[in-house]
Amino acid sequence: MKAIHEVYPQLTAGSKRIAITMHQKPDADAMGSSLGLYHFLKQLGHQVTVISPTNWARWLDWMEGTKEVLDYELQKRESDAILDEIDWLFCLDYNHFSRTKAMAPKLAAISCTKILIDHHQEPDTASFNYGVSNTGKSSTCEMVYDFITASGHRDKINVFVAECLYAGVVADTGSFRFSSTHASVHHMVAYLKETGLIHGKVHEALYDNFLENRLRFLGHVLLNRMQIDYQLNTALISISKQELQKFDIKTGDTEGLVNYPLSIQGIKLAGLVIDRDEERKWSFRSKGTFDCNTFARQYFSGGGHYNAAGGRDVASLSETVTKFKSAIAENASLLQ
Ligand code: 5GP
Ligand code: MN
Repeated sequence: MKAIHEVYPQLTAGSKRIAITMHQKPDADAMGSSLGLYHFLKQLGHQVTVISPTNWARWLDWMEGTKEVLDYELQKRESDAILDEIDWLFCLDYNHFSRTKAMAPKLAAISCTKILIDHHQEPDTASFNYGVSNTGKSSTCEMVYDFITASGHRDKINVFVAECLYAGVVADTGSFRFSSTHASVHHMVAYLKETGLIHGKVHEALYDNFLENRLRFLGHVLLNRMQIDYQLNTALISISKQELQKFDIKTGDTEGLVNYPLSIQGIKLAGLVIDRDEERKWSFRSKGTFDCNTFARQYFSGGGHYNAAGGRDVASLSETVTKFKSAIAENASLLQ
C-alpha cells in the first residue's frame, strides 16, 4: 500500500468513476465519512457512487445524500455493474474486505485502484494500492477531513460535507470525551463551524431522533437483561430474537446500548450480544487498560479498537454467553 499523498495530484487529473464503500451496517462514522467524501469528490467533477454493504439505521437518513446510497444486499446487480466500471474504489472505516459481508468477493475481484482510509487495528494492507491507516485518529471522518485539507482542497468543505464529517467525529469520540479527541479534532471542528455548520442540529439528529419503542426497549434491557459480575468488573447484556421482534427493533436501534453498563462504578468491560438471524453479534467496550480488540479477536473472530470492538459467533445465544463467561474468567487478572 502506497502513501495516500500520492493520490492527491490524481484528484484533479481528469474525471474518474469512483465508488465509496464502508463496513456493513454502517454507523455515523462510516456513513458520514463516505458521504462527506462523496460531496467533496463530486465538486471536483468525478462521477461518484456510495455503496453500503447492507442497510443502515433510519436515523442516519438526515445526512444529505443518503437517498443516493445503494444498499448492496437490495441492489446487487446495479452495484456490481458500477463496481465493474470504476477507476477508483475508496474503502472507508474498515480495513479488511470481510467487513463488507456479501460485497467482499466482488471488492477483492475487481482490478481498479483501491484506496484505504481507516482507523482500525491490523489493516490488510496487501488489498489496497494507496491508503492511510492510523489507529490514533478519532474517526474516519477526521481522516477524510485530513485528506481533503492535505490535498489542498479545504475550500470545498461546504456545509453538507461539514455536517457529515462532524456527525462521525461526534459519534466515534463519544461526543469529544474519548482519549482519541486530540487537539486536531477541535481544530477541525473550529474550521467546520466556519463553513456554517450548526452543530446542535447534528447532535439532535443523532441523539434525539429515535422512536418511542427504542426507549421502552432500553428500559427493558437495563432492568431485565443486564448482568453484573463485580468479581470480574464486567457487565453482560444478551438480547434474544423474540425481544427484538417484541419491541420492533430495527438496524441501529441497539447502537450505544453497550455503553450504559460502563457508567456503573468499577465496571471495566461491557459485552453485548444480540441474536441476529445469521449469527450472534458481539460488541465490547472497556474503560482503561482492558484491550477489547485482542479479546474480540481471540474469542469472537472480531476486532476493532482498544476500548471498542466487535465480534461474532455461530453458536447459539446461550452457548456464546457461556463462552463469554469463561473468556472473562480466563482474563480475570486483566479485569482487576
Ligand atoms: P460495534 O460494537 O459498534 O459494532 O463496533 C465497535 C468497533 O469494532 C467498530 O469500530 C467496528 O468497526 C469494530 N467491529 C465491530 N465488529 C467487528 C468485527 O466483527 N470485526 C472487526 N475487525 N471489527 C469489528
Ligand atoms: Mn470509525
